[in-house]
Amino acid sequence: MFLLGRVTYLLLRLARKKGTSLPGLLMWRWRKTLLSEWLNQLEQLIVVTGTNGKTTTTALLYSMLHDQDQPWITNQGGANLVQGLMAALSRHANWRGVLRVRKAVFEIDEATFPLIMERVRPTLMVVTNIFRDQLDRYGEIDHALSMIQKGIALHEASQLLINADDPLTAFLGRNRSLTYAFSMDKEAIASMTMVDSSEVRDGSFCLVCGHELHYDGFIYSQIGYYRCLHCDFTHPDAEFIGSPRQDASLVVGELSGLPGEPSTLHVDLTGMYNAYNLLCAYSAARIVGASPRRIQEGLRRFVSPTGRMQTFVGKQQSEITLALIKNPTGANGVLRAVVEDVQTYAICLTINDQDADGRDVSWLWDVDFESFVTRSNIRRYYCAGERALDMALRLYYAGVREEAMVIVEDLTTLPAVLFTLGQKTYVLSTYTALHRLAEWFERESEKRGNDLDE
Ligand SMILES: [Zn+2]
Repeated sequence: MFLLGRVTYLLLRLARKKGTSLPGLLMWRWRKTLLSEWLNQLEQLIVVTGTNGKTTTTALLYSMLHDQDQPWITNQGGANLVQGLMAALSRHANWRGVLRVRKAVFEIDEATFPLIMERVRPTLMVVTNIFRDQLDRYGEIDHALSMIQKGIALHEASQLLINADDPLTAFLGRNRSLTYAFSMDKEAIASMTMVDSSEVRDGSFCLVCGHELHYDGFIYSQIGYYRCLHCDFTHPDAEFIGSPRQDASLVVGELSGLPGEPSTLHVDLTGMYNAYNLLCAYSAARIVGASPRRIQEGLRRFVSPTGRMQTFVGKQQSEITLALIKNPTGANGVLRAVVEDVQTYAICLTINDQDADGRDVSWLWDVDFESFVTRSNIRRYYCAGERALDMALRLYYAGVREEAMVIVEDLTTLPAVLFTLGQKTYVLSTYTALHRLAEWFERESEKRGNDLDE
């Protein structure tokens, strides 16, 4: 059965498919205890869960920890369900089922979290944030919260890392020992606060007493500097404090007492939400013993995972940046990064409605396109995908003029259209179109790059 998974994986690789889940699924059916057997062999395990930023945080953390001398296992590319873990582990197991690498950092879907937590002894559990995800997939916010809470409760003796700026995540660490927190600098939060924003703030109620939280500044959604005026629930003190700078770097201050001098981090990722991912990964790496110097070296090797702000360059200054969007909070974060990039000429929103995207596209109405349209100087809006018309309608209500909108009926024409603009474009896409777009953009940018050389 070990062989079966490996053979399938190799076959899929040969077939050049994105085979991250199928081999794992086959093995899962063959023997359910196999996962536990493998997981039990791990000597160090970091699990990363939460609504947004799991994939980027895990990828960052992996690049900070993994090298030839001290290899780590990870489930790259967002394969964060049981099958994804099986596939990742199978690559490092010999034919007897013995793991050759005994350290792992795994991204775990919040709905699968308790199930996996029953089978492991994590060294460190990391919760990035908790937001409202696709409604038709996991239901309301309290469901995600209760799943994560359930998983954490199984491991009182493990370390926990929480986002102090998110009251929902912070609640998980309340009165718990072995808990670390990361936070953005209070001044930085205050300077970024936008009072006119109409974003959804589902999580801004006190989980202890139910009253609305008071904010001294917030960044997006319920993320900010908060306190309850009716009980003792408040923004916890953090051991790791980030101060974002204009040049997209992040200065980290530490009150952790861990050895090593804190430092300034540079990474090729834009947007405030990526600053959070970076701070989160840094904190986790420090907790498991990495020195700031080792973290810096790891960051230099970091490659952005598909769709988390991946950039493709073509000829005549054409540049396309691709980003995944899947829920209002994530989309607002990406839109904010687009606004910050003043060179942006066009934006393309590709919305599909297959199972993996979420069948219900009503979440588009919770995205703050109004403030985006007012604050950006985008000249052209492309709408593509199966729900291009829903997208166009949403933009129309947000104040985009009809003349500024283009409906792309055939998705395959999109790379050619965008690469001939000779401008900087952001493409925001839901899940099912993402990998196809990344492949096309890559091919097109190579082609056009070659043209340039001739
Ligand atoms: Zn309260």
